[in-house]
Amino acid sequence: MTTTFRARRLPVHRGPAAWSAILPPRTPAPPLEGTQTADFTVIGAGFAGLSAARRLRQLVPEARTALLDASTIATGAAGRNSGFMIDLPHELTSEDYAGSGDDRTVIALNRAAQAFAAGAVDDYAIPPAYFDRAGKINGAASAAAHAHNLSYAAHLESLGQGSEMLDAQAMAEITGSRHYLSGLYNPGTVMLQPAGYVQSLADGLRRDGVALFENSPVIAFSREGSGWTVRTANGTIRTEKVILTVNGHLESFGVERGRLMQLFLFATMTPELDAEALHKLGGQHRWGITPSDPMGTTLRRIDTAQGGNRIITRTCAVLRSGMETRATDLARAARTMQAKFDSRFPQLAGMKMEHTWAGHLCLTMNGVSHMREIADGVFSGCVQNGLGTARGTLTGMGGAELACGVTSAITDHFTAEPQAKTLPPRPFRDLGANTVLRWKEWRARSD
Ligand SMILES: Cc1cc2nc3c(=O)[nH]c(=O)nc-3n(C[C@H](O)[C@H](O)[C@H](O)COP(=O)(O)OP(=O)(O)OC[C@H]3O[C@@H](n4cnc5c(N)ncnc54)[C@H](O)[C@@H]3O)c2cc1C
Repeated sequence: MTTTFRARRLPVHRGPAAWSAILPPRTPAPPLEGTQTADFTVIGAGFAGLSAARRLRQLVPEARTALLDASTIATGAAGRNSGFMIDLPHELTSEDYAGSGDDRTVIALNRAAQAFAAGAVDDYAIPPAYFDRAGKINGAASAAAHAHNLSYAAHLESLGQGSEMLDAQAMAEITGSRHYLSGLYNPGTVMLQPAGYVQSLADGLRRDGVALFENSPVIAFSREGSGWTVRTANGTIRTEKVILTVNGHLESFGVERGRLMQLFLFATMTPELDAEALHKLGGQHRWGITPSDPMGTTLRRIDTAQGGNRIITRTCAVLRSGMETRATDLARAARTMQAKFDSRFPQLAGMKMEHTWAGHLCLTMNGVSHMREIADGVFSGCVQNGLGTARGTLTGMGGAELACGVTSAITDHFTAEPQAKTLPPRPFRDLGANTVLRWKEWRARSD
């Protein structure tokens, strides 16, 4: 009997991948053509796939590794996120980010992911502004939000993790916004230029011998003899092992159907701020604010070394189990984000955004990832629960380790996780989740 995994859906993006649009142009690797052979084939080149390929280079440098992505590097969620590579528990479904499991283990793993990424930064001469150990601030704009920050700070202290409470004046001096009553500074977050980091990592891997194929959507892979054949429209790879690092598109390949929440987040980016706007804005030239209520608004200021003096606003979420957002989703999010920007920066109110986009992430009801052997010689590093810069790095590393028969703290942690809980059937799943999301957004409206 032939085992075949067929891609029933391919990624569809709405809006530009703005983080790469603001970087100097890059020449993508050519698509897969003809017949190739490899020891390992990694499908999906976001944080997880790139990390899997790098881990393979470390574990089996003599092995031939192929890495394919449906689009160009950083077109997917890896180039659409807000770039917070967070070391601390950051449970999006909790009231204040405190985790529900073993937070000490999670912190150690997230720091291992940061260290692994820092190694790549050194080895591949990735510009330091793309991997900035600047820390982040949990901003609070209401008494309830400040209470979330206090409970989160107490939780961190119980874990032996330092943080610093900032008052309204300090927040205004950093951000140029008088919106915040307080902020909790967490020094351990790395602030990425996400597209800059993943593109530089991909190019470093290519120089290091990984065969990268961009614009090469995998349409199927099948068991043939002792190995697997991976197919795109114009080529095939005969390979011993497959590592699937496609995040929510795991479900498109028929795995974990009815168990993955296909969520979309939205973001906007200002044009380059001119001298007058910068003068009106004030504040420091780089900072990152996560909302103290997870359903609030994330804000980031970047500078010329990261693609220009700009502000990025992220808020709104919608569940779309069909993995495609609607034009109306983006239009609603754009209006909401403009209003949030205007209220936080009245001195720049009405500024027209240069880029507005949606991005795909994948969650499970019980917060678990999917990193295991799916079939003989096929491994996964998927489902990052919205924290894919760190967790994607970990599940990619772990997927590669499993494929090499290596165990580590990463493989021990993720293989011990229970299976993802089953979700309610469609259309109730989307209707119910979107009603809850809208209510939570409303509740966190000032945050
Ligand atoms: C607006 C927004 C803000 C976010 N902010 C943050 C943040 O600040 N910090 C954080 O940690 N996370 C954040 N996230 C989440 C983060 O972006 C994701 O968790 C992360 O990108 C997941 O990494 P990944 O490698 O698992 O998946 P992805 O980055 O989604 O990569 C999967 C890759 O698989 C490819 N693929 C899919 N199907 C196929 C196929 N058939 N053939 C070939 N390739 C295929 C896709 O093209 C894609 O490039 C945010 C997400 C969004 C949308």
